[in-house]
Amino acid sequence: MSLAFDDYGRPYIILRDQGQKKRMKGLEAYKSNILAAKAVANTLQSSLGPKGMDKMLVSPDGDVAVTNDGATIVEKMEIQHPTAKLLVELSQSQDAEIGDGTTGVVVLAGKLLEQALTLLDKGIHPLKISDGFDRACDVAIKHLESIAEEIDIQANDHEALIQAACTALGSKVVSKRKRELGKIAVTAVLDVADLKRKDVNLDLIKIQTKTGGSVEDTRLISGILIDKDMSHPQMQKEVTDAKICLLTCPFEPPKPKTKHNINISNAEDYKKLYQQEQQYFIDMVKLVKDSGANIALCQWGFDDEANHLLLQNDLPAVRWVSGTDVELIAMATGARIIPRFQEITPEKLGKAGSIKEVQFGTSNERMLVIENCQCTKAVTILIRGGSQMIVDEAKRSIHDAICVIRNLIKDNRIVYGGGSAELACALQVLQYADEVSSVEQYAVRSFADALEGIPNCLADNCGLNPITSVAQAKSRQLTEKNPRIGIDCMELGTSDMKEQKIYETLSSKKQQIQLATQVVKMILKIDDVIAPDDY
Ligand code: ADP
Ligand code: MG
Repeated sequence: MSLAFDDYGRPYIILRDQGQKKRMKGLEAYKSNILAAKAVANTLQSSLGPKGMDKMLVSPDGDVAVTNDGATIVEKMEIQHPTAKLLVELSQSQDAEIGDGTTGVVVLAGKLLEQALTLLDKGIHPLKISDGFDRACDVAIKHLESIAEEIDIQANDHEALIQAACTALGSKVVSKRKRELGKIAVTAVLDVADLKRKDVNLDLIKIQTKTGGSVEDTRLISGILIDKDMSHPQMQKEVTDAKICLLTCPFEPPKPKTKHNINISNAEDYKKLYQQEQQYFIDMVKLVKDSGANIALCQWGFDDEANHLLLQNDLPAVRWVSGTDVELIAMATGARIIPRFQEITPEKLGKAGSIKEVQFGTSNERMLVIENCQCTKAVTILIRGGSQMIVDEAKRSIHDAICVIRNLIKDNRIVYGGGSAELACALQVLQYADEVSSVEQYAVRSFADALEGIPNCLADNCGLNPITSVAQAKSRQLTEKNPRIGIDCMELGTSDMKEQKIYETLSSKKQQIQLATQVVKMILKIDDVIAPDDY
């Protein structure tokens, strides 16, 4: 795009490939953007909450995923529209920062956009709407902080943490097993957490999936589990006091590169070559053994010949260890990753109490467990389930739960779920609206309506009448001065979310409201869309 001047000095804009570009301006641009983004939010709306629906997503090559996780749904929808993509990013940034609340953030953004559309129709300028939303957001966040409660992480065997994990898991496909899975997640995080520094390195929790068995068979293993076995069935099954040589080079003689040929014309030459290769293997095994290593873990493979030699030389080995496992093992055992055999030295070996082959359930597949690593404690959650679809979804759900617990260790303040926190904020924002004398007042009020959209949506999704249930909750919050009244989605007979123990982290709620407001403000600032014509 460039600016030019005509004969009379009047400026005009030249668009490159003007004929092939489509252009939308002003109100038309605002509205089309809003409608596109809202379409995404509407899709997610029915997935919110404990009774939210799941989505089945089929990829172009036929892979099927069934999920309730907002970030996963929008990611797999393969959205093209540029503004709708902003909502995908919104969900993903919530996922990256917080881990949970990825559906909620998109639904809230959708509700805000809906309100913005009505305000635009009333003739209010987009910047005024933006401003009003911004002010309302500040009020909501402040109020959220004032109604947050601190929980005691240690009390009653970490009961509060387990409850928070259960809230995150309650809306997932695996919700039937939420208590067991929640406990596993809590133990895993506490195992690797540094409570003094309030820090958790989630890289130390490995989540390994393995189809077979059922979700109940999911369990926590203290140590690193890798889905591999010793490279030769006759190698020893357990190495105690392991000194690990972690290799990223293949156990094989150098291969002739494509452009070189080896001409072998007689048996003598062939024998020589064979012996040279043998010598190569022997040297490699010797280098490993000389360093004091008693097990070799190799990111690459090795052929039967090498495998046999390893067995003969009493050096247990594992091949095709994945890159992420290599990194985790290096971190936990203090091993240095070694790219060349010549560089093996005793200091570079990692240490662990034991490495042994174990068997799970009734299948005869074996895996390796590395226990008592010298540097840091690492744990593995082994997820089982009837099909790939189930274990994949269980993995995403446990990831959410783990993130929630990590967030609580960083900041132990919670708010209550079931739409109660949003409703409390909405009431506060509404009160504030009366103090605003300018046109922003309308936007502030609309922000409150958008917040109300969350309990509304929760009620709708569990088959309650949204209007009556929200109205009831609202009036009870006001008359009883109790910000914990929300929607009784599970029909347990009480709307007090404290009694229902629906814990959500303050950090997640705060982030949801802030991110949603931010993205809506961004969409409202776009007044000109220039795109290729085939868009
Ligand atoms: P997200 O991906 O945003 O976490 P979820 O499907 O997990 O979406 O739904 C979260 C919403 O459901 C939150 O607003 C939470 O307060 C609410 N919620 C979760 N469990 C319950 C419950 N048992 N009763 C009422 N509301 C609940
Ligand atoms: Mg959730």
